Amino acid sequence: MSISVFGGGLTGCLIALELAEAGKKVVLFEKEAGLLRRASHANEGKIHLGFVYAADESFRTARRMIDDALQFRPVLERWIASRDFDEMLYDRFDYLVPQSSMLSVEAIEAHFALVSRYLEEQLCAGKGPYLGQQDLEPVVRRGTPHDNLQAAFTTPERGIWPDAVARVIGETVASHPNIEIRTDQAVLKVEPMRNGWRVLLDQAGARDEGPFEAVVNCAWAGRRRIDAASGHGDGETWFYRYKFGVVLKNARQAFGGEVLRNSTAMLGAYGDSVYHEREDSLYCSWYPVGMCFSCEELVEDRPPVIDDPEDAMLKTWEGYASMDPAFKALVDGKPFADATIVGDFIAARAKTDIQDPKSKLHERHGYGAVELAPGYWSVETGKYTSAPRCADACSRMVLGR
Ligand SMILES: Cc1cc2nc3c(=O)[nH]c(=O)nc-3n(C[C@H](O)[C@H](O)[C@H](O)COP(=O)(O)OP(=O)(O)OC[C@H]3O[C@@H](n4cnc5c(N)ncnc54)[C@H](O)[C@@H]3O)c2cc1C
Repeated sequence: MSISVFGGGLTGCLIALELAEAGKKVVLFEKEAGLLRRASHANEGKIHLGFVYAADESFRTARRMIDDALQFRPVLERWIASRDFDEMLYDRFDYLVPQSSMLSVEAIEAHFALVSRYLEEQLCAGKGPYLGQQDLEPVVRRGTPHDNLQAAFTTPERGIWPDAVARVIGETVASHPNIEIRTDQAVLKVEPMRNGWRVLLDQAGARDEGPFEAVVNCAWAGRRRIDAASGHGDGETWFYRYKFGVVLKNARQAFGGEVLRNSTAMLGAYGDSVYHEREDSLYCSWYPVGMCFSCEELVEDRPPVIDDPEDAMLKTWEGYASMDPAFKALVDGKPFADATIVGDFIAARAKTDIQDPKSKLHERHGYGAVELAPGYWSVETGKYTSAPRCADACSRMVLGR
């Protein structure tokens, strides 16, 4: 009997590969027309070291992020050649602290010191390297470039271009002889059978499939709906936010040849900018514009329509220009023809948004794979940073290792 995986995001694809490589036959159901088209494609690819999670005083989030980040490359390198991986990486992040930050510069600096210490301990204990780097640059406080900021820090945190990862992982899954991909097939629910699991599909005329030896639900924004329909509701309050950013091609030209830095403004409803030199692409998000829809229960896992994309792009660049004045070049130049809006849902346990310092959005550590019934696994990825480690742990459990 084969194993069925629901959801062809980074987590589902990596689990499918691990199981297939162990000799299992895998059927991967994906409701979109192709693999890796949702959150694992629409995010900015920061491989978190926990710097931004300064509001979690327990430090559990930062610790979890670091532990996951240190496993990101080793797991992915089973499928991506080292040299290709290096080319997908982008440069270090600056953290900008606006005047209106929810946390003081002192509190942020103290958190950064804890992050640096824990990270160093892990690297010294042989848990590294981080994305291939063993000797990390220290956090450095830089001069504040303009009046809107209280402080600016350069950190060793980096990221990877999700589009490039998606291309390689998608091709690897598609060419694996033990994996059968079923795109345009949305899973509705699963039912136990005498000898395994039956998968019910949400398509007119589609056959139910099974029996499967095991089922692994990696459907991210659609995950809880499948679990609830299968009799495994979690009874918790969740918060689904649809957040978009703007990806700009030919970015250097739009900035008049200026060298672009990666930055995140913290802590509050601000944004990020990420430049990928090899692709000459710039991702930019501005939370007050990009976080355009939220709800407690996601009735339909469909991105909302952005009514006026050019207005959304302009407002995003205007917002980020208040953090980084270099963005005024985009506000003036309006390079809409080279820009695309990309976004998706962020699924997290929380009741309030990030402007609330007590919001559970500032705490991300209780995720992973759970066996809801014998042979029925549900995987809460947590972050892109965590997807490889989560997938590795889950596939071992499914294989009984
Ligand atoms: C805008 C944005 C920015 C982010 N930035 C970062 C970041 O910088 N760093 C970081 O670590 N994390 C970031 N994240 C979070 C990160 O993207 C996610 O945690 C991660 O990609 C989730 O991976 P996944 O494989 O679980 O989900 P996905 O990649 O969403 O894969 C789930 C798949 O399941 C499919 N599916 C859903 N329902 C069904 C169904 N019923 N049947 C079959 N298939 C189904 C979907 O179509 C999808 O392909 C960001 C998220 C967003 C949206």
